[in-house]
Amino acid sequence: MRNLQDYPLIATSDFTQVCQFTCFQNNYGVLLYNRKSETAVAFDVPEAGPYLEALKVTGWKLTYILLTHHHHDHIGGVNELVAQTGAKVVGHARSAQKLGFVDLALESGDCIDLNGLEAKAIGTPGHTLDSISWWVPDANMVHTGDALFSLGCGRLFEGDGEMLWASLNQLKREIPAETLVFCGHEYTEANGRFALSVDSKNQTLLKRQQDVLKLRANDKPTLPSTMAQELATNPFLRVDQLDIRQSLDLVDASDADVFSKLRQMKDNF
Ligand SMILES: [Zn+2]
Repeated sequence: MRNLQDYPLIATSDFTQVCQFTCFQNNYGVLLYNRKSETAVAFDVPEAGPYLEALKVTGWKLTYILLTHHHHDHIGGVNELVAQTGAKVVGHARSAQKLGFVDLALESGDCIDLNGLEAKAIGTPGHTLDSISWWVPDANMVHTGDALFSLGCGRLFEGDGEMLWASLNQLKREIPAETLVFCGHEYTEANGRFALSVDSKNQTLLKRQQDVLKLRANDKPTLPSTMAQELATNPFLRVDQLDIRQSLDLVDASDADVFSKLRQMKDNF
């Protein structure tokens, strides 16, 4: 049995805390706790076991499960977690069509009241068509699923580069810089190696990758990051930067074309 020391809690506002833990090899489980309502929200459920253990150790009561997309490594544990907790499952209407267990189907732009905490569903298609980033302004956090990673972004399984670029550009416009960014996977170190290959003069990125290497050497998470950190270091949000465009020999191309080229290069990196 693990104890609370195994679950360092991240204070995201004066009344919310996040418990983040590993599922499978490199997926993250994320629980957001609201001290005012004394209830918790889960973001995706790769597997139920780690969630049940984290809920037991923290003593938190789970009431909602928010889905970021339909991939099995994000939803595989939903049924078991619902059976054990009675939590309601919330997801994109497209996810609801695919999965049999979504209680509340939302569209991009919809908001949901999670026991007094408002979450906004920002449709961020590209990795899949049903991708949602969940923005919870009062908890100062966004969970971007497999759309935006720290120093990277998701692969294009169901959409194209133009679509995912539009999605990430919306996050750029809408999410305040100080917002904490949580996502589906611990891919930061490999993402950082690619980022440096196309943005080698970026001193903030160099420093970030040094920090990432230290964290990973100590088996520590590199998440959450912040929107400000991603804007300064994530090449997929920086396609307008001349240094990156020059390294791709695409100085005059559209942002979407630079993005698509970056995504293609990362696939083969
Ligand atoms: Zn995925």
